[in-house]
Amino acid sequence: MDHFVGRGGWFPKGGGQVLAAGFAEVIQKHDGQIRSRVEVSRIALEGGRVAGVVLSTGETIAAPVVISNIDIKKTYRDLIGKENLPRATRLQVATWRMAPPVINAFFGIDHDVSNAPNSNHFVIPNWDRARNLHALATMKSDLLVGRRRSVHDWVSDYAANIPAYVQTSTRRDPSHGASAPQGSAAFEAQTMAPSNPRLWGLDPEEIADGRYRRNPRYQEIKEKVTDAMLARIEVAYPGASAKVEWAELATPMTQSRYTDSTAGNAMGLEPRIGQYGFGRPRSATVVPGLFVAGTSTAWGPGTQGAMVSGVKAAGAVLQRDLVRDIRAGRVMVDRSRLAPWNAGFDPLEATRMVGRDRSRSR
Ligand SMILES: Cc1cc2nc3c(=O)[nH]c(=O)nc-3n(C[C@H](O)[C@H](O)[C@H](O)COP(=O)(O)OP(=O)(O)OC[C@H]3O[C@@H](n4cnc5c(N)ncnc54)[C@H](O)[C@@H]3O)c2cc1C
Repeated sequence: MDHFVGRGGWFPKGGGQVLAAGFAEVIQKHDGQIRSRVEVSRIALEGGRVAGVVLSTGETIAAPVVISNIDIKKTYRDLIGKENLPRATRLQVATWRMAPPVINAFFGIDHDVSNAPNSNHFVIPNWDRARNLHALATMKSDLLVGRRRSVHDWVSDYAANIPAYVQTSTRRDPSHGASAPQGSAAFEAQTMAPSNPRLWGLDPEEIADGRYRRNPRYQEIKEKVTDAMLARIEVAYPGASAKVEWAELATPMTQSRYTDSTAGNAMGLEPRIGQYGFGRPRSATVVPGLFVAGTSTAWGPGTQGAMVSGVKAAGAVLQRDLVRDIRAGRVMVDRSRLAPWNAGFDPLEATRMVGRDRSRSR
């Protein structure tokens, strides 16, 4: 954080997708297999220890070790099963609170940013709502919980007052040709949002069966939130909001649909006293052979924490301090197996192919 705020954040050349494309390539070029378009339905246990995974296709993959980075509550509750957990773990899982969801509005805008400062912007429409800790707590309750509020009151207040983080990846990485056509730019406005389906005009059943996307009330609320996010972009980039070519909002429901996270959270366990530092799960678990990684672990929340947690989980399995090895400069991949990425390399297409290759071979 100190580095990010004080000296500026780093951005992967080619966009965040290069991380997934790079990891996928390393796994596949070292004889690993990636299975996509299939779910793990449960973790198989034998004599109380991990014996493999059972897929939604009915296939079982035997393994003495499983590392799970799916939603931590679901790992324990759905994949292991409450009945297989010691009482203390069951209680802990039941009381864990998840972080509020993060939402992103994406815009393709016919607006030239090549001369704009290469900056992140935090747009705070109403400083009075953030004047002290009490006001901040009230704002959190009003905008991110909204327990006793009508949908109309909540969405009007949210649209007018929610702060947002605004950035353009086209400006961050002008060499990334797929980001936007010359002279235009891709913009993002990011903020937190309530997970409560009622505030999004939905019933939990509609979310479970996927009907929610066609609900006109939900569409209307989405439109209001999208307009609010565009207004935040206008503050940072005056004139941009009149030239929108394309807009899309990802809501907490979108996050659940794609990652199956509890209540649309993207940051795992809420960072609160008792769920932070020593209160956050480490790699090994009470179930022999089960390890956890991901944003809910001690190294989270967020992308970087999730990545470090993967190294930590691999280290816990191998009983080696891989972070120390990496810091000492040890290279663990066989570089000769990795082809250089040429200028036209498209990380999105490369990661999509991981799934397509597999579905063709089945
Ligand atoms: C809009 C948005 C903006 C964000 N911005 C930032 C940011 O600026 N900085 C930052 O650090 N972080 C950010 N994050 C958070 C970051 O993306 C997450 O914390 C991180 O990706 C979590 O990684 P993970 O490995 O724990 O989980 P995930 O990335 O959710 O990976 C879990 C995977 O498991 C799959 N899965 C789920 N259930 C099953 C199953 N039963 N079988 C098989 N597979 C399953 C899911 O589909 C998913 O692909 C943002 C998130 C969102 C949504």
